[in-house]
Amino acid sequence: MAKSISARHDMPRQEPGVRRHNFQEVALGYDQETAVAEANRCLECKNSPCVRGCPVEIDIPAFIREIKKGNFAESIKIVREKNSLPAVCGRVCPQEDQCEKVCTLGKKAQPVAIGRLERFVADYERERRPVAGMPQHATSGKKVAVVGSGPAGLTVAGDLAKLGYRVTIFEALHKPGGVLVYGIPEFRLPKAIVQEEVDYIQKLGAELRTSVIIGRTITVDELMADGFEAVFIGSGAGLPKFKGIPGEQLNGVLSANEFLTRSNLMKAYDFPTHHTPIRVGKRVAVVGAVDSARTALRLGADDVAIVYRRSRDEMPARAEEVENAEEEGVRLDLLTDPIRLIGENGWVKAMECLRMELGEPDASGRRQPVPIKGSEFITPIDTVIMAIATSANPLIRQTTPSLECNKRGYIVAGEETGKTSKDGVWAGGDIVTGSATVILAMGAGMKAALDIDRYLRSK
Ligand code: SF4
Repeated sequence: MAKSISARHDMPRQEPGVRRHNFQEVALGYDQETAVAEANRCLECKNSPCVRGCPVEIDIPAFIREIKKGNFAESIKIVREKNSLPAVCGRVCPQEDQCEKVCTLGKKAQPVAIGRLERFVADYERERRPVAGMPQHATSGKKVAVVGSGPAGLTVAGDLAKLGYRVTIFEALHKPGGVLVYGIPEFRLPKAIVQEEVDYIQKLGAELRTSVIIGRTITVDELMADGFEAVFIGSGAGLPKFKGIPGEQLNGVLSANEFLTRSNLMKAYDFPTHHTPIRVGKRVAVVGAVDSARTALRLGADDVAIVYRRSRDEMPARAEEVENAEEEGVRLDLLTDPIRLIGENGWVKAMECLRMELGEPDASGRRQPVPIKGSEFITPIDTVIMAIATSANPLIRQTTPSLECNKRGYIVAGEETGKTSKDGVWAGGDIVTGSATVILAMGAGMKAALDIDRYLRSK
């Protein structure tokens, strides 16, 4: 019998006029009734295209079926079989390009809100998670080092701790979470949630050591000499890049990496309760990215523009986040490319830009921006945030000579195993692929954990 398709349930959010003045989470999450109603839209397709669209292959129809029955605790167990960070993924993964993109329902109506349902069961569990009584695993005694506590590292640590390995996570910063903590703003991903996911992995048995820089405090070879039989490198790609245009050395010009780290990790938005201040002028231009623009607005800027040299269709950010930013008052200055920053007394005062038009697709498949001759214009500006790209920190590469890296400085690792050129060393996440999504880093971590387990069992 044909089933009529109900509309997808909206995610309740803070009002734009309110949220642009605070750092609290924008999306508020489904309540139980809405979650069950949304779950009831799922057709439980036999061929489950959504599972194939998920980089970690969560059994999506099965976890949604349990929501339909009101078995939320059972539902999250199914999610956790494949995903160690469901509260994070439910918030920041681009489901519209993955599981929801291929959802059968999406052919005739809006797809099932898989990400929102994942977030719902993860939050249900977080709010009720027992302090004691975590499953204890028999230990094999074999030691594994995990370099970096971002999504790839946490996945490897969680999966291997569950298998009974003695896992130690080494984090360079003073707080765990990697890009989840320094790179994603509080209003998209509350840091308390990241901390709870880290706590969960520690309760599984993984040890965490912060403020340890691999390649400086201790090298990969020294870790191996110290008895670690396998090392996973998930150190990310957090080295900021600039455009290389005149004036970038002026005061008032920051990398998005520094800007977001000061705000997210050091909590500059809560100065002086937290000791790291941040200066944001009245007119802010963010070259390339959405998170920095929304943060600048919340820090008190009057006029914030995202300056982007392609069109809206090519923007790498999630459509939902671009819409949120616009609702809050961020302007999009599209098909515009800064070519010079102009200073006065050492501070940036203006920005010269060129208008662009779109030409043929380039190697990335996106249409290439082509400058329009004679379209230069100058606009006054107080702060410029450069969010064009990041690259790999060279420390581990420089101190681990037998580790093969590509021309761009990323570690070469097997796509299906994460295995590197160095025996006993695996890598995954942004340090291999360059800047990508949280769920892809987790997928790489999952594959590497399986291969590390195979390797250690065969030793
Ligand atoms: S493809 Fe969509 S409708 Fe089908 S099982 Fe997956 S979530 Fe449900």
